[in-house]
Amino acid sequence: KEKTDAKKIIQCKYCLEDIANKNFMRHLKRNHSTEKEVESIFQYPKNSKERRHALGILRNETNFNLFIKGTIRPNRNRYKNLVEHEKYYPCAYCKGLFFKEYLRRHVKNCIAIKTHANASQVELKKNVLSRSHTITACAVDPTNVISKLNVKEQYLVFVFWVFDLMKADDIAFEAKKDLLIAHFGNSYLKKLKRERMAYACSTRMRELSRLLISFRKIIYNENVSFKDILHPKHFDMVITAARHIVGYDSFKRKFKSPSLAMHLGTSLKFTCDELTHLIVQESEGLNVSRLLNVNWLENVKNFKKLVESRWNIELGPLANKDLQEKRWKKPLLLPLSILTESEKVLTGKYKRVINSGKGSKAVVILIPEIIQDFINILLDNRSKYIPSDNEYVFATPGSTIKWEAISSNKLRKQIATVRKQIATVMQILNLTRDETKQFSDFMGHTQKTHEQFYE
Ligand SMILES: [Zn+2]
Ligand SMILES: [Zn+2]
Repeated sequence: KEKTDAKKIIQCKYCLEDIANKNFMRHLKRNHSTEKEVESIFQYPKNSKERRHALGILRNETNFNLFIKGTIRPNRNRYKNLVEHEKYYPCAYCKGLFFKEYLRRHVKNCIAIKTHANASQVELKKNVLSRSHTITACAVDPTNVISKLNVKEQYLVFVFWVFDLMKADDIAFEAKKDLLIAHFGNSYLKKLKRERMAYACSTRMRELSRLLISFRKIIYNENVSFKDILHPKHFDMVITAARHIVGYDSFKRKFKSPSLAMHLGTSLKFTCDELTHLIVQESEGLNVSRLLNVNWLENVKNFKKLVESRWNIELGPLANKDLQEKRWKKPLLLPLSILTESEKVLTGKYKRVINSGKGSKAVVILIPEIIQDFINILLDNRSKYIPSDNEYVFATPGSTIKWEAISSNKLRKQIATVRKQIATVMQILNLTRDETKQFSDFMGHTQKTHEQFYE
C-alpha cells in the first residue's frame, strides 16, 4: 500500500499544482501553513492516525472536484487500465473515489462516517451508491442551485431523502442532475407531506427522467435538460417519447404500462407550473435574461395548453381503456368483514362476471347459483365437444366460434327470467335503500333503470 501511495500525485487545492504524495505534507507546511484547514491538519502529532485522516479528507476533496471535471484520481488504483468515468463512485462522506463494488466495503470503515455527528451510523451506511449519485449530481450542477437549495430551504431535505432512496441507476442519476425534475420532486413532496409519498415522488421523478432520456434519443442530443423540452415545437416529439416508454404498440393500439401514460400527462402539467414559477422568480439555475423570459413563459404556457388539450387524445382514451381492462382481469377482493349481512348472502348466491362490452364500459353479469351449476356441467364436459382453442364459454361444438343458436327472442326471455329472479331475491333480502342503490350500481344499471325496475 505504501508503494502505491508514494507514486500518487495530489493536486494542491490552494495553488492547483500537482505534487507527489510523499512531498505533499512538506508542500503544505512550506507554502500554505496559514490556511485554516492546513493548520488543523498540523495540530495533530506527526505520524498520528488523526493527521493522516485529516490529510486524506483534504486530498479527497480535491480529487472529487477533479472527478467532476473529468479527471480520475481514485483512492485505490488497482485497476490500472480501467479509468472510465462512470466506473467510479465518490463516497458521500469522505469524497474518496472508489469502484462501485468496493464502495460498499469502504463505507463500513469510512473515517468520515465514524466522525459524523448527527446521524445513526447504520442509516448512513444504507443506499451508498444512491448517495454517491446525489452528491455527484449536486456537484455537477454548474449553478449550484440544487445543492444550495438543500441548505437554504428546510423542505428540500425531503427531496434529498428521496434522492437517496432512489435506485442507483442512470434513470435516477439523470433525475437528480436535472434542475427541473429536482424542483418537481421538491414541490411534489411539499404538496403531499406524507411519508409514503417519498416513494410516489421517487416514481414520478423516475418517470420524468425516462421521458427525458427517451426524448434525448429522438433528437440525438444528450445535453437537453427537462426545461428545454417544454416548448410547443417539441410537443409531437414528447408524445413520441412518451409512447416509446409506455410501450405503445401502434398495431394493437395497446400500452404495456397504461397507467404510466396517465401519470406522465399529470406530471408534465405539473412541471410546466414548476418551470413557470422558476422563470417568474428568475431562478439563477435557469440563467436567462428578463427580456427572454417573456417569450419563454409564453412557450411554457402554450406547451401546457397542448398537454391539456392533446395528451388525452394522443395517449389518454386508449390508455384509459387499457387500464380498465387490466383492472377487470384482476379480481377485486374485498374482505368479507366489511360487507353487510345481505351483501354476504349475495356473494354466496351470485358470481360476478365482467364482460368488455361496447366501448370501454364494463358490462357486469351476475350469475345465480343455478346457472353456475349449468355452466359447471358445460365446463366439465367441454373437452368432449369443444376444441381447446375456442375461447368462448358458450361455444359451438367442433368450432372456434361462439354459440349463437339461441334466437334473440328466446334470449330476451331468459334474461327477463334472470332479472325477475334477482328482483325476487332482493325482496326476500329486504334491502335498505342504500343497499338497493349499491346493488344496482353493482349490476351496472343507471339510477333511472334502477328506479323503474326495483322500486
Ligand atoms: Zn500549493
Ligand atoms: Zn468515505
